[in-house]
Amino acid sequence: MTCNPRYEILFEPMRIGPVTAPNRFYQVPHASGMTNALPRVRAAFREAKAEGGWGVICTGACSIDPSSDDAPLPFATMWDDNDIRAHALMTEAVHRHGALAGVELWHGGASVMNRTSRLPPLSPSGIPWMATHVGFMGNLRPKTMDKADIREVLRCQAEAARKARTAGFDVVYVYAGMGYLGYEFLLPEYNHRVDEYGGSIENRVRFVREMIEVTKDAVGKDCGVALRVSLEELRGRPGRNQPSEAHELIELLAELPDLFDVKMDSSPTDCSASRFTGEGSHEPVIDFVKSLTTKPVVGVGRFTSPDTMVSQIRRGVLDFIGGARPSIADPFLPNKIREGRETEIRECIGCNICISSWHDGVPVRCTQNPTAGEEWRRGWHSERVERTDAPERILIVGGGPAGLECALTLGRRGHEVMLADSSRTFGGRLTFEKTLPGLSAWNRVVDYRLGRLSEMSNVSLYPESVLGADEIVDLAPDRVVLATGARWSNMLYSSLEIPVGRLDHPDVLTPDDIAAGRLPQGPTLVFDFDNYYMGGVLTEHLAAQGIPVSYVTPAGQASAWTIMTNELPLVHRALARRKVSVTTLHLLKSFDGETATLAHLFTGEESRMACRSVLIVGLRLPRGELFESLTQRAEALAAAGIRSVDRIGDTLAPGAIAHAVHSGHKLAQEIGAKIRWQPYRRDTPIVDAVADFDMRTAAE
Ligand code: ADP
Ligand code: SF4
Repeated sequence: MTCNPRYEILFEPMRIGPVTAPNRFYQVPHASGMTNALPRVRAAFREAKAEGGWGVICTGACSIDPSSDDAPLPFATMWDDNDIRAHALMTEAVHRHGALAGVELWHGGASVMNRTSRLPPLSPSGIPWMATHVGFMGNLRPKTMDKADIREVLRCQAEAARKARTAGFDVVYVYAGMGYLGYEFLLPEYNHRVDEYGGSIENRVRFVREMIEVTKDAVGKDCGVALRVSLEELRGRPGRNQPSEAHELIELLAELPDLFDVKMDSSPTDCSASRFTGEGSHEPVIDFVKSLTTKPVVGVGRFTSPDTMVSQIRRGVLDFIGGARPSIADPFLPNKIREGRETEIRECIGCNICISSWHDGVPVRCTQNPTAGEEWRRGWHSERVERTDAPERILIVGGGPAGLECALTLGRRGHEVMLADSSRTFGGRLTFEKTLPGLSAWNRVVDYRLGRLSEMSNVSLYPESVLGADEIVDLAPDRVVLATGARWSNMLYSSLEIPVGRLDHPDVLTPDDIAAGRLPQGPTLVFDFDNYYMGGVLTEHLAAQGIPVSYVTPAGQASAWTIMTNELPLVHRALARRKVSVTTLHLLKSFDGETATLAHLFTGEESRMACRSVLIVGLRLPRGELFESLTQRAEALAAAGIRSVDRIGDTLAPGAIAHAVHSGHKLAQEIGAKIRWQPYRRDTPIVDAVADFDMRTAAE
């Protein structure tokens, strides 16, 4: 198949200063959670995207100096020769496929706590980031930078740029976004300086200008120099001779960098979840940039539709189509468009599990793409899988995310697959969850897999098939895989912070009751100790139907874990819009049909809340009856020639959809495989010599 002529514009080469990108697909810097400690994992993760057709592949934040130390959050470094060698693995991997490699040199300013280096964080005026969430709180306030500090950071940027060039990077960044040092100089709230670096917009831009200048002086002949800048706040501030200070900033720097990478200011808006925003959400903030510069502009917006991408270019919004999440979910997105296979794109669902990996400090995980981060350590490829030379008949029971992914991967390996589900439609939990407020895009997990499965002649789908142990024995497949999911329980929660007891009452519901079409009667108390999306989403769902809802959780915030996926502030806003009362740090003790008794998590002090129904969003337990009855029939299984019975997804261990997809993929890779990583290959840092880092102070 060939490229739709309408999309050919996406494959034009584009200059970035002295280097040329092969096309307009630009994987903007994004966290991978891999750091220089996992250089092979990282190189293979980035290489997959170059192989898949992305024209520029960038690192995530790469510190220029120990005064920018984000530990324990994962960040890369460009401090010494070992760092150069670690990065070179990635640039070589990216170059093998004709793509350019970019490095996001970064100084975190007052947003980092320098927990490892124990150097004072730096900031223009000593204004700290004092986060409200404990995960980001710190107890070291920044030092106000004097002129020597500014000179030293400029020196470090130039030095890191030279190291980046040695490592093989083609594009080198200056970073002035997301609350980090360059951004702090731009914003008057952070920057109270009365010298030439503070006051007017010209003065506030000076530090960023100098960062670009020193970078260009250091490597500008060989590398493109990119400015990454957040424009959301500045766009909201009227300028003196332009509509906003964002316009003035771009006007002041217009021809200085070789590329503008423009974005929003904070994680929840910059990397917003599909629950709350759609494709192209940055456009109203960054749409003007191209009108003030002749240099190429890249921006993001969770672009997965080639028509939207072309529209961004034709309408003069962007020159490069930036992608972070779309490139994680489908490293081969560009090639699929070029080859006329756009229906095969594995579209990002906007769930932000990838972001949660960074917050967790681990290599990136993706709901849609189970191979993300597994390229090197498990040898998985997002498009190819080792074909079996001994095809087997494999029955999968349960067509939710785990069963669908397992069927797809086993089918690609050449097995004869039967996928059965008791429901009329495949999709498992998503059949209901996709109907809940903001979750429709999540069904891409199902759409992508059903689309591919429908093209495969060796996979048969059996909807409306309730299978018990007898039916399975009668079918006599070579292997059985159970993907039968999990059920929500009505268990309560104790001050030991574990599920305990059960609340049995006719007006106590679980999410499964709502999925089955039952609605609570009268004022309803939602008790959520699952802490991810389901409690908040169901609260919205009930409130939207006119049911008065109170939300109670033992956690400190509503849907507390969604801090990890950038959704938490927006969850609270959504509940407030629905006029839901939120009670935190409370346990549900009992309910008599008219009153719920609550107790404070820490003090035990009891209080009452009037309500007619209770919805418990707490512990999920495996739907495990089928596995148990099969294991009780070992002889019948052996007589039928059934070699194995495995469980995947929620019936093995209930969790987020990302875990179910990964579990289904993993088993499909492992069944009958010649090589099995136990449990996976372990990466190690590259350390050829103990680095003799230059710790001179600027005063010397
Ligand atoms: P996961 O997230 O692990 O994929 P889901 O709960 O989304 O789990 O999906 C499980 C699917 O298994 C549901 O669609 C359910 O209808 C189906 N299922 C459960 N038990 C059986 C069974 N005995 N026979 C056929 N289908 C089943
Ligand atoms: Fe998209 Fe979710 Fe994958 Fe992140 S984890 S890339 S948001 S599908």
